[in-house]
Amino acid sequence: MKVKQGRRIILAIFDAHCDVLMKMFIDPDISFLDSAKLHITKRGLLDAGGKVQCFAIYIPEKVHPDMRFQSALAMVDIFHEKILSEPEMKFIRSKTDIDNLKEKEIGAMLTLEGCDCIGNDLLKLKTLLHLGVSSVGLTWNYANLVADGALETRGSGLTRFGTEVVTLLNEQSIWCDLSHLSEAGFWDTLKRADFPIASHSNANNLCSHPRNLNDSQIKALLQKNGVIGVTFVPQFLSSGYSASIKDILNHIDHICSLGGEKQIGFGSDFDGIEHMVDKLASFNDYHNLINELNRLYSAEFVKGLLFENFTRNFPR
Ligand SMILES: [Zn+2]
Repeated sequence: MKVKQGRRIILAIFDAHCDVLMKMFIDPDISFLDSAKLHITKRGLLDAGGKVQCFAIYIPEKVHPDMRFQSALAMVDIFHEKILSEPEMKFIRSKTDIDNLKEKEIGAMLTLEGCDCIGNDLLKLKTLLHLGVSSVGLTWNYANLVADGALETRGSGLTRFGTEVVTLLNEQSIWCDLSHLSEAGFWDTLKRADFPIASHSNANNLCSHPRNLNDSQIKALLQKNGVIGVTFVPQFLSSGYSASIKDILNHIDHICSLGGEKQIGFGSDFDGIEHMVDKLASFNDYHNLINELNRLYSAEFVKGLLFENFTRNFPR
């Protein structure tokens, strides 16, 4: 899919992860249209070729557990009232919705990052799915009643309740997002999930960080037809808090060397990060990355990487 813009033709982007909703939840004065406080705005998406953007419901750790489901509902409300209320923004719940996007329309997909807000109540998860959540990440960095996260020192896997969660996601054709899981949680979940992805994770082989996936994990995810979204978090790209577009390219090359050419995309994590990749300070800068991609790879590969690998994989 290409987005025509005046006489310039720019490539369509699917971005599997951002935290715009969290920022707008914390600061109700932020405008999605063009706030300088956001890395992703409607204007930025329109200018840079954003075609489908995933918006994560991520409840900040400081929210009391009893208030987390209420907060998730508040973020769904923000998604409808402040994102989808923009005339160009269209709610994406199926492949057909993506196919039906017209020129100058942008799809918005609702995702959940971490199941903390459902406690041990499957009805709460079903409610979020009814409200249009299309991808569910089981944990953030720590443990919840579903599984352990990547930074939980105990390092356990999926709980009994967690298996019920994965079964529900399978039944309803919902992406099961493995990013943020502990390694044990990753393997337990991958075994059971019919529609696994890792929306924002990089290769541990190039940058050793508990949030990144090792080669066996990446290969196993690819074997189960999953897609991995390379993320722009500097700490997951190279050691330290700075990284360059070249680092992103290295992770792309590595994942491709494991067989991922058709199962790789991007999950920027814009608005969830404080340190930025050099020349990639916001969504508006995607063109700096795309220029490098166009210089180095085939047009077909770039289209897949930017858009089609994720959208082709969407199970609904
Ligand atoms: Zn995250």
